[in-house]
Amino acid sequence: MYEGGRFLGPGSWQRRLCLAPFCVVEVRSVGEMVGSGEAAAEIEKLYAAVPQIRNVFYVMGKIGEGTFSSVYLAIARLRSGEDMKFALKHLIPTSHPTRIAAELQCLTVAGGDDNVMGVKYCFRKNDHVVIVMPYLEHECFVDILHSLSFQEAKEYVFNLFKALKRIHYFGIVHRDVKPSNFLYNRKLKQYALVDFGLAQGTPDTQIELLKVLHSKKQEGLLGGSTQRSVFGEKNFNVYSTVPHEVTVAKSITQPKTTDVAAKKLAARKTVPAKNTSTGVVRKTASTCPVSLTCYCYARDQVCSICLARTRQVAPRAGTPGFRAPEVLTKCPNQTTAIDMWSAGIIFLSLLSGRYHFFNAGDDMNALAQIITIRGSQETIRAAKQFGKTVLCSKVLPPKDLRTLCEGLRVCMVPASGSETEIQKQHTSLQLKILENQDGWFVEQTDVNPAEGTDKGLKYTLLTEGTELNQCNINGWDRVPDEAYHLLDRLLDMNPATRITAEEALLHPLFNDLV
Ligand code: ADP
Ligand code: MG
Ligand code: ZN
Repeated sequence: MYEGGRFLGPGSWQRRLCLAPFCVVEVRSVGEMVGSGEAAAEIEKLYAAVPQIRNVFYVMGKIGEGTFSSVYLAIARLRSGEDMKFALKHLIPTSHPTRIAAELQCLTVAGGDDNVMGVKYCFRKNDHVVIVMPYLEHECFVDILHSLSFQEAKEYVFNLFKALKRIHYFGIVHRDVKPSNFLYNRKLKQYALVDFGLAQGTPDTQIELLKVLHSKKQEGLLGGSTQRSVFGEKNFNVYSTVPHEVTVAKSITQPKTTDVAAKKLAARKTVPAKNTSTGVVRKTASTCPVSLTCYCYARDQVCSICLARTRQVAPRAGTPGFRAPEVLTKCPNQTTAIDMWSAGIIFLSLLSGRYHFFNAGDDMNALAQIITIRGSQETIRAAKQFGKTVLCSKVLPPKDLRTLCEGLRVCMVPASGSETEIQKQHTSLQLKILENQDGWFVEQTDVNPAEGTDKGLKYTLLTEGTELNQCNINGWDRVPDEAYHLLDRLLDMNPATRITAEEALLHPLFNDLV
């Protein structure tokens, strides 16, 4: 880390950061961006938090705002006299230091090549950290979605796989692959994978700090309610990190059929958890003896026994619509394959012209949406492979991907607010997931489908009767079978057989690109 532009602590990866090739002779305003008083006030706050920035950069304005950071566009004058644009990522001061350092290490070790964003510099003052990256002007995915040709869409995913191949080679699981984290400059044909704020290491990762995060997570040493969790959860479903204790019930979606006994049980604050994966002897709350047989199996409601049970803790970072089935079902052994699933969802958006493709607000509905496309039997079969039992209230066949995408790409879109066929199917589907080991019920979808407004597949619906007029142009009338074959391999429900980034780059679809 830096202190006033100087590094503290050893490590070659850190020292490499020092080699910023610029020195500011003069700070001046280049172009206008600051605009409103509010924007100016935010920039002042940034200068106040990390004053060194003012010596080097002229901050033009905010370009991104997430849960854990704000990103600014800034300009610095190089020694050569040339002005250069940079992206300044100001991390929220409550981020865990190891988490911040790991994000930096991903950028320094894997970044700067093969469409992975690099880093130029890093500032710190107290608990404020600002990461300085080269600026890549980029398009907003939804804005360009309908004007992309098939060839351009193909190049986009090809370049995404290049980035994923690189980070996976270094043993980094990104965990938050989505269009806003994959920058695309259409004019320059440049791409950059950004945002390692949720990244995790594979068991053999080359990123030392991801190993540290992993071991600290195992020991339960990191966490805290106000900090960005090192488990990778964003701002929901944050579990207690106290070893052997898991907060229960607060975050469990309570179905309408919950009985009184169940509510009482669910109201309990903490239950000593037995964690089979770490070999901790399992105890259960006295109100819920382990010998009690569950009576909700194969029924469409959650029994009181199950409601009182602790839920399996597994990494589930990312954005619901991009989460792989093994993430949604809280499979503890997650691999780089989760990024390939997310890339598949992006490809699905490109091929169907719909974004967000899946928009569920929670994991169970997200899984239900996936099932409507990939099929219930297929899901059940795949889930078994990674140790989960999925119960589905009805049998849904898988959809043919070409028919699905071409159907969604049709010229006329439904009037806004009207349900698509997929929406109707999904909202009447109920799900349960059981852990194979002991048959414990984990969660289920809302029982009353009619109530929710965000339960179905909603798309960027255009106004009634809008002519997309996409069908026969830009190559969308000649999408080859290879595209749907690759999509099928990306959206493989089983992570063990899902296509890797390296394999995807060699897919026949890209024969003209290599
Ligand atoms: P967060 O963790 O808050 O999502 P990101 O690293 O994803 O932070 O950055 C948020 C947004 O800021 C991105 O979606 C992108 O629009 C913009 N951004 C980030 N890095 C850069 C960069 N190097 N060049 C241009 N824009 C960037
Ligand atoms: Mg982001
Ligand atoms: Zn039960």
